[in-house]
Amino acid sequence: MPCFNEEETLKELHRQVVAELASSSHDFEVVLVDDGSRDGTARVIAEICARDSHVRGLHLSRNFGHEAAIEAGLRDARGDATIVMDADLQDSPAAVARLIAAWEDGADVAYAVREKRKEGRLLRAAFHVFYRLAGRMMSIDLPRDAGPFSLLSRRALDALNGMGEINRYFPGLRAFTGFRQVAVPVERNERLAGETKYSLVKRAAGAANAIISFSKLPLRAATVLGFVSAGFAIMAGIFVIVSRVSGAKFSAGWASLIVVVLFVSGVQLLTLGIVGEYVGKIFDEVRRRPNYIVAERVETDEGSGAGSTP
Ligand code: UDP
Ligand code: MG
Repeated sequence: MPCFNEEETLKELHRQVVAELASSSHDFEVVLVDDGSRDGTARVIAEICARDSHVRGLHLSRNFGHEAAIEAGLRDARGDATIVMDADLQDSPAAVARLIAAWEDGADVAYAVREKRKEGRLLRAAFHVFYRLAGRMMSIDLPRDAGPFSLLSRRALDALNGMGEINRYFPGLRAFTGFRQVAVPVERNERLAGETKYSLVKRAAGAANAIISFSKLPLRAATVLGFVSAGFAIMAGIFVIVSRVSGAKFSAGWASLIVVVLFVSGVQLLTLGIVGEYVGKIFDEVRRRPNYIVAERVETDEGSGAGSTP
C-alpha cells in the first residue's frame, strides 16, 4: 500500500485489512510504503509494526509519487499473490476476499473495476474520457475504469517486476503481462480522511504519461498532420499556377498568405512537441535513474523469516 501523508487513515486501514485477511485461509504480510510523508505517517507505521508482525514498513528517501511507491511495494512483496491497494480506504478492504477468490479460481490478475465513483462530476467525466481515449489509442487492451487496486499472482508479478521501464503506468503494465485476467466490480469509496494528493495538473500529466507509454498513435498523428498540411500546400500551389496561367490577376493576398503561414507553423510546432514528448521519455529511459530509493525498512523479527506468505 502506497502511503503519502496518511497518518489519519492508517490505523483504521490496518484494522480493516487485517480483519479481512485473517478471515481468509491464507497467511499474509502487509507492506506499507511510506512515500516520503511529511506528517506522522512514519511514526504511525512504526507503531503498527511494533504491534503486528504481519506488517512491514518501507520508507522511501523522499516523495517519489504514487507509481514509484507501488513499484517499491511490488518489488518487496514476497507472497504467492500480491494485492495493491490505496491507503486511504477508497479501495474497499471488503473487496479483498473477492480478489482472493478470483485468484483461487485460477486468475493471475484480478483487477477491481471501479463502480459508483464518489469524486466530483468534472473529475468523473475526465476519468471517463481518459479511459475511453486511452483504450482506443493504446497498443494493449486496457480495461476501463480499472485503477491500481488488484491482485497479481506470483508469475504475473514476476513478469511485471521484470519490466525495467522507468515511466511506469501500473494498470497498463499489469494488462500487458497477460495471463488470465479477471475483472471484479468494486464500489469506490470516499476517502476516509485527508485530501487527495493529486492536483488536476498532476492527473493530466499522469494521463499523458500513460498514453505515451503505451501508444505510438500521437506520433502517427503528427505524420498524418504533416501529410495533410503538405497536401493542402500542393493543392494551393496548383490552384495558384493554374489560375495564373489562365490569366487571373491576384490582389495583395495577404489574408490567405498569413492563414497558410500560421497554419503550417502551428502544425510544425505541434508535431515537434509530440516528438519532444517521446524524446523526453527516451531520455528518462536511457538515464536509468531508479524510480525510488529506500531509506529504511521497519519490521519485527518474527515477520522477516516467513517463507511463502501470500
Ligand atoms: N500516494 C503516494 N505518493 C504520492 C501521492 C499519493 O504514495 O505522491 C498514495 C496515497 O497515499 C494513496 C494513493 O497513493 O494511498 C492514492 O492517492 P490519492 O488518494 O491522493 O489519489 P486519488 O485516490 O485521489 O486518485
Ligand atoms: Mg484516494
